[in-house]
Amino acid sequence: MNAAQTARSVAATAEAAATASREWARADRTVRAAALDAVAARLDAAADELVPTAMRETHLPEPRLRGELGRTTFQLRLFAEVLRDGSYLDARIDTADPEWPMGPRPDIRRTLVPLGPVAVFAASNFPFAFSVIGGDSASALAAGNAVVVKTHPGHPDLSAATAAVVVAALAGDGAPQDLFQLVSGIDEGRELLLAPQIRAGAFTGSIAGGRALFDLAQQRPDPIPFFGELGSVNPVFVTREAARRRAEEITAGFVGSFTLGAGQFCTKPGVLVHPRDSDLRELLAAHDLPAPAPLLNDRIQQGYVAGLGTLAGNDGVEPLRFDDGALADPPAPSLVATDLKYVLDNPAVLDEVFGPASLLVAYDDEDELLALAELLPGQLTATVVGEEDDRIAPALLERLADRAGRVLWNQWPTGVTVSHAQQHGGPYPATTAPGTTSVGTAAITRFLRPVAFQNLPQSLLPAELRDGGPAPALVNGTPSGGSR
Ligand code: NAP
Repeated sequence: MNAAQTARSVAATAEAAATASREWARADRTVRAAALDAVAARLDAAADELVPTAMRETHLPEPRLRGELGRTTFQLRLFAEVLRDGSYLDARIDTADPEWPMGPRPDIRRTLVPLGPVAVFAASNFPFAFSVIGGDSASALAAGNAVVVKTHPGHPDLSAATAAVVVAALAGDGAPQDLFQLVSGIDEGRELLLAPQIRAGAFTGSIAGGRALFDLAQQRPDPIPFFGELGSVNPVFVTREAARRRAEEITAGFVGSFTLGAGQFCTKPGVLVHPRDSDLRELLAAHDLPAPAPLLNDRIQQGYVAGLGTLAGNDGVEPLRFDDGALADPPAPSLVATDLKYVLDNPAVLDEVFGPASLLVAYDDEDELLALAELLPGQLTATVVGEEDDRIAPALLERLADRAGRVLWNQWPTGVTVSHAQQHGGPYPATTAPGTTSVGTAAITRFLRPVAFQNLPQSLLPAELRDGGPAPALVNGTPSGGSR
């Protein structure tokens, strides 16, 4: 138990969140921004306490965890900037117009308001950046909502220690009590999502877990939005010309990407599609692979062994780098291989295997790439390694944009920067909400809801909708600055 987790029931936790959420929604944007900055500062100051706890519970190395904590506090500060700017409110003002072509128009003004308390299901694989005070919590708080985090059992002590820092920072900065709370346990998570006060859910994890919670959210008497980031194999398509010109560079880049963090990234390239008549397969058969490294926890290890065992057991899939260590604990990085025609007939080989393994897929004719791209389930990312004058490039990119949230050209999908233009999402099963992102400043809109105010007097309008208000707005269809 800790500062954020009291002996109260899930029902009482949700009720307290509702009270705090109302107060937080009324707080000025600059107040919310200052609170996010205060949380970031306290987390930075607590690094020497938090990072060793994370190392002990996740087996991840210190530099990676320090970097991830830095990403987490950067994210909080970036949302603070977004709040101060105010553009995220997408304020729109149409003043009354008796000459409007479809008939006289009333004064109507639209802004975004907070949804209410958000249930955040923390991820296992990013114990800072996608966990207790990761992107989901940061964006939900920034939007003006209370947060209740369902902790991940993979790092319980870190979850408690992180929450204690967050709660202390918020209290010191005058935020409402119970703005940020924790619950633990699978049943408690389900109860939380069903609590009437909860207005949205956010999740990062497995397809099975995310789908179960998505269905639960939809089965409520009042269904609520559920932003689940689930699974992805992040295919990489290498054109014939790129493989001919740059086989060694592609080999090194691919190995670095699929083994990064022992393959425990949702953007790990789990499929590399390459021309059969290139040197890539031979180069990959000989390239150095990192030493075996322990995975995050027993559940991830068991899932990995089961998934890779199933993939490698397919009669059309052959071992390329797959020895006795492949399914051991810790597992040696592995590569298995097949060809594109087999994948078209056996699309289950495209299921995500979460850990340090990838599937090589050989093709004979570049036009086959289009058939594979069309078969793909929704993806977080899809990558083309190609040359600008490749004949196949435009059609392939068009199909991949139809299937993936982020389309890359000659770079590797691991490494998801936090920025204004970032998109970390995609059609199902990559996510349960393809219109949104869970990384980057656009993530804030997940926890907001549009409201139009018609014919209100200036004094009763939200500040951003008043004439000359403090945020940028679209005024009668024309962008207008914050100092209008
Ligand atoms: P998980 O099993 O999906 O669990 C994530 C969270 O959801 C946990 O808090 C879990 O609660 C909860 N949960 C899962 N199933 C539930 C259900 N039926 N009802 C209510 N709550 C449920 O994910 P994980 O433990 O992090 O990793 C397992 C697998 O998820 C990995 O092997 C990998 O395949 C995948 N994964 C994907 C990503 C990604 O970014 N796409 C990230 C991490 C993991 P409890 O833990 O308390 O049971």
